[in-house]
Amino acid sequence: MRRAEIVAVGSELLTPFRTDTNSLWLTEQLNELGLEVQAKSVAGDQLDLLAGVLQSALERCELVMTTGGLGPTLDDLTRDAVATVAGVELELWPDVLENLRARFAARGYEMPTNNERQAWLPRGASILPNPSGTAPGFILELGGKRLVVLPGPPRELKPMFSEHVRPLLGSSGEVLVRRVLKVNGLGESALDERIAPFYRHLDNPSTTILFTEYDIEIHLTARASSREQAETLLAGLAEPMAEKLGKRVYSSLGESLPQVLARQLKARGVRLASFESTGGARIADRMMALEEGPLVYAGGLVAPCPASLEQAATMADEARSRFGSELAVSTSVNGQEVFLGLAGPNGVETRTVSLLGNRELVAARASQSALDWLRLVYLA
Ligand code: AMP
Ligand code: MG
Repeated sequence: MRRAEIVAVGSELLTPFRTDTNSLWLTEQLNELGLEVQAKSVAGDQLDLLAGVLQSALERCELVMTTGGLGPTLDDLTRDAVATVAGVELELWPDVLENLRARFAARGYEMPTNNERQAWLPRGASILPNPSGTAPGFILELGGKRLVVLPGPPRELKPMFSEHVRPLLGSSGEVLVRRVLKVNGLGESALDERIAPFYRHLDNPSTTILFTEYDIEIHLTARASSREQAETLLAGLAEPMAEKLGKRVYSSLGESLPQVLARQLKARGVRLASFESTGGARIADRMMALEEGPLVYAGGLVAPCPASLEQAATMADEARSRFGSELAVSTSVNGQEVFLGLAGPNGVETRTVSLLGNRELVAARASQSALDWLRLVYLA
């Protein structure tokens, strides 16, 4: 399998305030083409440092992709660092400059002098057009190694990669395909105990168990010479695992719980309402964020209520009658303890669950517990 490295450029990515999400997206794209990302780096906006990081990445593998540092300001140094590493000059590309000017003119502005920097590219580069922004990307071939230089803003990077880079990378004859099983209501070790026998001696597909904000995901990754073959390998592992876990698995295709519920509610032609207390409007938020939200979610109330079973029942009942829905859930959180209510054709039921984590996590998982209880009782 061919290997690649990613270098994310930008001092802001080294602060607690910005995350390098570009490399996650790029990794997914590269994996689909059968390229494995063997290392990635985040480099601040310093010329020598950046040149050093690029140099060592190029020593280790045949393909290096950078993102960021192509803007018009003085701290955007990727062009300069690449020229240093390649041992070439930056030269002015008149048609790139013309293009930049035209872009500004079309909006009735004169181009600031700063932006001229974006038309200076290392000698020998092939341009990657940027229809969504000012900075063009470029590719430089360096003695059998390929350096692909992409802009930082995700809405510029993604189309540039998909339209102009992906077709050049071709396929290595191998693909990596992932499948995600989503599981609620089991702890990590209880889960692992059940599925370990299936994956313990298997390295293709590989298995990773991940905790998320809401519950647990099982990531299966298959490597094969075609997508179909990879899917067959994945099915061979995912199916027995899902069978062993039974109704605990709410999706074998990586969907969120609200997505799954929306589909099931729609199929049954029923709607859900909610009443949430101290955890905040989590259910309302998650249901309404869905495209089908307005079809399947009738409405929600958020108000402080005492956390008790009796109150949970009243809340679920009130949500159902207030919004005229067939189903309703309620949650109220008190420390690690969560009180759930469920109103539906069977009447009103309540239960408590004890959840681990800080305030934020308990509130998120309370919404998940309520929705999953609804699924198990009425929709699964
Ligand atoms: P730049 O090309 O360095 O001027 O980056 C412009 C903007 O793109 C930054 O302010 C970030 O908001 C965004 N950006 C840059 N690098 C990344 C990255 N690796 N992941 C996500 N966003 C990024
Ligand atoms: Mg930057």
